[in-house]
Amino acid sequence: ILELQGLEMAFGQLSVLRGVDLKVEEGESIAIIGPSGSGKSTLLRCLNRLETPTGGNVLFEGNRIDARTDINQLRTRMGMVFQQFNLFPHMTALANVMEAPVHVRGIKRDQAEAEARRLLEKVGMLEKANSFPRQLSGGQKQRVAIARCLAMQPRLLLLDEITSALDPELVGEVLDVVRDLARQGMTMLLVTHEMRFAREFADRVVFMDGGVVVEVGPPEEVFTRPKSERLRKFLTAVL
Ligand code: ATP
Ligand code: MG
Repeated sequence: ILELQGLEMAFGQLSVLRGVDLKVEEGESIAIIGPSGSGKSTLLRCLNRLETPTGGNVLFEGNRIDARTDINQLRTRMGMVFQQFNLFPHMTALANVMEAPVHVRGIKRDQAEAEARRLLEKVGMLEKANSFPRQLSGGQKQRVAIARCLAMQPRLLLLDEITSALDPELVGEVLDVVRDLARQGMTMLLVTHEMRFAREFADRVVFMDGGVVVEVGPPEEVFTRPKSERLRKFLTAVL
């Protein structure tokens, strides 16, 4: 569903991605780990064109993403959730989830509402449908943000440290939602510092350092039999 070929990104003199190669199959759950500053967020941002890569190719659903790609169309196919919740503060949870289907996909309000309720139920937030973001906990907001993303019916989900702004006791409820989505076959790229979750949830783990993919493999391999010194050091520091 996604293929990166020698993806490069530089901010002025600073080379942040230095040739990233990666193939993601439909239905795969991939965890991206690596030290701070290794380029994980930049990688996700290059995929949905929040940044324009300075080199290499991104192929998504068989098409090369380039200057002619319709970015809005691309972002409906590739949903992204960030660390900081990005809900509209003046709208209820329900209205947040309905917004894009009504205004972007052009779906009728009652149909969009039924769909939004189904998605809120899926993330365990139906009873808070009429609450505003300020009335929700961090974990609840993040679950609504995931529902809002799913409302676009994306083919690929990009999740960037979606639990790192949360109090520890709220992390689990968000990860449960992610785990369910993975089981249901959603294709996902998840940047995380939660090593235990990465190990348990991911089909494959990608270790990035210095703007390249240093190792990629099934969790058992990456976590228990690291091949490179860099990964060994990283794991010693975080586990
Ligand atoms: P973390 O784990 O801390 O989130 P990361 O792996 O996500 O780190 P990135 O956010 O991708 O790292 O940043 C990689 C490098 O790119 C850093 O050195 C950062 O300072 C730099 N960088 C990111 N965005 C910009 C920007 N818009 N302009 C200049 N430099 C940037
Ligand atoms: Mg980051």
